[in-house]
Amino acid sequence: MDRLDLANLIFNDVDQSIDDLERLYPPRSLKEGSKVTRFAPSPTGFLHLGSLFTSMVARKVATDSEGVFYLRLEDTDSKREIEGSGNIVIAQLQNFNLSPMEGYFGDHEEGIYGPYKQSLRKDIYRIVIKDMLIKGLAYPCFASEEELNKLREEQTKNKEITGYYGKYALYRDLDVDTAYKWIKEGKPYVIRFKSSGNHLNKIKCHDEIKGDLELTQNDQDIVILKSDGLPTYHFAHIVDDHFMRTNMVTRGEEWLSSLPIHLEIFKALNFKAPKYAHLPVIMKLDNGTKRKLSKRKDPEASVDYFLKEGYEPHSLLVYLMTIANSNYEDFIVRTKDYDLDHFKFSLKNMSLDGALFDIDKLNFYGKEILSKMNKVEIAKKSYEWSKKYCHELEEFINKDYSRYEEILNIERERKNPRKDYAKFSDIYPAIKFFDYDNFTKIIDEGIEFNPNIDKEIIKGFLKTYGKAYRLLEEENLWFNDVKELATKYNFCSDNKLYKADPSKYLGNINDACELIRVAVSGRKVTPNLYSILKILGKEELNKRIDYVISKM
Ligand code: GLU
Repeated sequence: MDRLDLANLIFNDVDQSIDDLERLYPPRSLKEGSKVTRFAPSPTGFLHLGSLFTSMVARKVATDSEGVFYLRLEDTDSKREIEGSGNIVIAQLQNFNLSPMEGYFGDHEEGIYGPYKQSLRKDIYRIVIKDMLIKGLAYPCFASEEELNKLREEQTKNKEITGYYGKYALYRDLDVDTAYKWIKEGKPYVIRFKSSGNHLNKIKCHDEIKGDLELTQNDQDIVILKSDGLPTYHFAHIVDDHFMRTNMVTRGEEWLSSLPIHLEIFKALNFKAPKYAHLPVIMKLDNGTKRKLSKRKDPEASVDYFLKEGYEPHSLLVYLMTIANSNYEDFIVRTKDYDLDHFKFSLKNMSLDGALFDIDKLNFYGKEILSKMNKVEIAKKSYEWSKKYCHELEEFINKDYSRYEEILNIERERKNPRKDYAKFSDIYPAIKFFDYDNFTKIIDEGIEFNPNIDKEIIKGFLKTYGKAYRLLEEENLWFNDVKELATKYNFCSDNKLYKADPSKYLGNINDACELIRVAVSGRKVTPNLYSILKILGKEELNKRIDYVISKM
């Protein structure tokens, strides 16, 4: 018996070779320097913010170089798999305009390098593993759970590195005859890679972000084929990255420590390893200490959170790009251009330590981007959002769509638009008073007029204003009217005069406007008052004033 017999016994149905695969999946004919990148999620439920980040970078690296960004579903760990999560991931990438150009799309696949779902690639892995068995690069391992536990105990006791390696690799030198016999008898086994490394050695490698690195050489005989017939991640992704002709792997930093394993297998298989860029992990400040965003503790770890909150996907990407390349912020300040395609991204400008997630900054960009939309666009997008996530806003909009547009248009479509909405969920609380029923509820909860002004004077002023109000097409004309009336009530419309001796007046013109503002909205802070009055109209204004007075 020799290794070929053993390989034929285990893979008796495999009659193709690695060369056949090389022919089947030829190198891509792309422009010199084009990058082939991928996003390789495991279907474990939802899209993590960190995965959105790496996908954005992977796609940008590909598009900037006229390359390809593809998606591969890494579903070899059936225990962790959550039904349908492949489709969720695809849908979410689509939301962010980060759809792959090739690969797995949930209900179908696109591209000639497939299948793009690992569980459908068993035949390919088997061809490669058979070849490895024949060449002595892999071997069947019969270690039982108990044997492995005993091994770990012994290693821990001896303060040695744990795992299956070197002298601890019980079955790496088992003679072929015994292995053959045991397999024939049906003894359970896995297939392991036969490492030729030593953890006392260092290897040199290069990361596109971190530069030249020295890492501990791998010496673990990792499992490459599990007893369920599926390969492990470490092995499968190497075969896939090779035959899908990936030349740049962008992935989270948590994979850096496994890089020596991956590089060793690439070398053993005589495959050219791709370039690597390990991206910083997104961190969060928690009680003063930095820690990774956690699926369990942080709602914002899931991309879904941002969609539910109504962040415009583009603003999240802009924010993530500022984390990716800090010079992107300067670019925005300089160009006022939020089109990510126009920015020249560089892996070299990536920060080295974990990026800190900063919600205030995200909100800042959220406001910038929503404020730049015209009324038609923001109305449409927020309406779509409301149908999924905010029933109250949806109802509000359904009552009068064009009025909704007008409300959103307050201080919009101008050089310096108002920036009060960071996300769609900010809209309804700010505008719900336009609805008369909501308005009365707000008033019933208690109105807060300026306590320094006598209630009777307030009532008189409001009543008179309600009657005197005129719909004027220009804000300054309207404001003149308010000033005129306010002056009669001893509000001062000249700030200098007022400041010189405030005690002479009931208040300044802003105090007068505040009374009107509170009377029509129940709030001290609202968008532009003139615009609000225009939308409400005279009749509604008086109805509100009467209601407010009745509650004073
Ligand atoms: N399937 C791995 C994950 O879930 C992919 C790692 C890689 O990109 O190599 O993160």
